[in-house]
Amino acid sequence: MSVNEHYDPRDALLVVDMQNDFCEGGALAVNGGAALVPAINAEIEAAQAAGALVVASRDWHPVDHVSFDYRGGPWPVHCVQDTEGAAFHPGLALPAETVRVSKATAFDADAYSAFDGTGLAGYLREKGIERVIVCGLALDVCVKATALDARRADFAVCLLESLSAAVDPNAVDDARNALIDAGVEVRP
Ligand SMILES: [Zn+2]
Repeated sequence: MSVNEHYDPRDALLVVDMQNDFCEGGALAVNGGAALVPAINAEIEAAQAAGALVVASRDWHPVDHVSFDYRGGPWPVHCVQDTEGAAFHPGLALPAETVRVSKATAFDADAYSAFDGTGLAGYLREKGIERVIVCGLALDVCVKATALDARRADFAVCLLESLSAAVDPNAVDDARNALIDAGVEVRP
């Protein structure tokens, strides 16, 4: 399995929302989601071996979350706290020391970015992180929002596009352009 980056201890590999509900068979499945797992595992292993920080975010909604369609939101019910759908994909090999970040945990607000309301930017700065390497799901929603927020927080940001997949394949070009405009380095 080829690895996309050369990591060092100032890097954080941020694996976004590799959860059952976003993979095939889940409530809000992204085509090609589960297929990313082996390559993301290889990336995690390389990051860890080089002393980089490994971070995994998860969508972690309370019951009756405002983003659910029956509450007027845009999405079907997904990633409800402590359900099987909210669990990380069983094939995802997260080291024990992985920093886990739960987002969109309020009843009345959604959050696409792993930086939104989590304190993650300050934590990464405290840890001496200078660059954030992003992969996971979904490219046109939470991965995009996370990468843009990482730039806003003044980190160097790299998106591993081949380790990500989109809810809407037609939205990929726009997402990529928005990221490049914001100064994100997009690796094919
Ligand atoms: Zn959600």
